[in-house]
Amino acid sequence: FVEIRHAQKSFGTLEVLKDISLTVERGQIVGIIGSSGSGKSTLLRAINDLDPLTGGEIWLDGVQVNKQLPHRQYEKHINEMRQHVGMVFQHFNLFPHMTARENVTMAPMLLKKISKEEANKLAEEQLDNVGMLERIDYYPSQLSGGQKQRVAIARALAMKPKLMLFDEATSALDPELVEEVNQVMKNLAEQHMTMIIVTHEMDFAASVCDRVLFMDKGVVVEEGPPEVIFKTPTKDRTREFLRKHI
Ligand code: ATP
Ligand code: MG
Repeated sequence: FVEIRHAQKSFGTLEVLKDISLTVERGQIVGIIGSSGSGKSTLLRAINDLDPLTGGEIWLDGVQVNKQLPHRQYEKHINEMRQHVGMVFQHFNLFPHMTARENVTMAPMLLKKISKEEANKLAEEQLDNVGMLERIDYYPSQLSGGQKQRVAIARALAMKPKLMLFDEATSALDPELVEEVNQVMKNLAEQHMTMIIVTHEMDFAASVCDRVLFMDKGVVVEEGPPEVIFKTPTKDRTREFLRKHI
């Protein structure tokens, strides 16, 4: 469903991704763990071409995301592809001058040309899903970090994405707010949303992911089911990382 083939990415002479291949089946949840600077965010951003690869291919649902096209056609193609991919980052990227409702309705109205009534219904539904219906008309500045992150998830889901990408969605949150966001992600997992989750939370990865990848210095060192990666990793680098992080 998602296929990353021989992904390679360099920033100048710095090779950040070195020949990474990864397949994610529909409905699968893949966790990515690894030290700071190992290339996790770069890989995630490459999936919808926010950080274009310098080599390799990204495929989503049978379509190549990073295909070679003349500029104009490429813009059209990539905007269409990005509609299928929801992304939630560490730092809440809500539009500060818009309420939760407006944050959620904007993209569907703009890109899918749905009516305001439909968009409002959609916003109510999605914000209800993440437990934020009561705060639908609040501005981001009036919300806690966990609430903002839940609105960000609702906003991504309003586009009915085929794939959700999470890049340390909880790592900027106070500890007591982490659980409410994790719970929303767990609910999505139960609804069989395809997800790739970069996380520093090993317990969470172990409880929600079907597969976990350990990345180090731009390569996937080891991957497997969480019970194997966390309990009986085979590579020294994985063991060393886990010793420091569990
Ligand atoms: P963290 O856990 O700290 O978020 P990460 O695994 O997400 O780390 P990346 O953000 O993917 O790591 O960065 C991988 C490497 O690429 C780092 O060495 C970083 O400095 C470098 N890098 C990332 N973006 C750029 C850029 N735009 N220009 C130059 N180097 C970059
Ligand atoms: Mg990162």
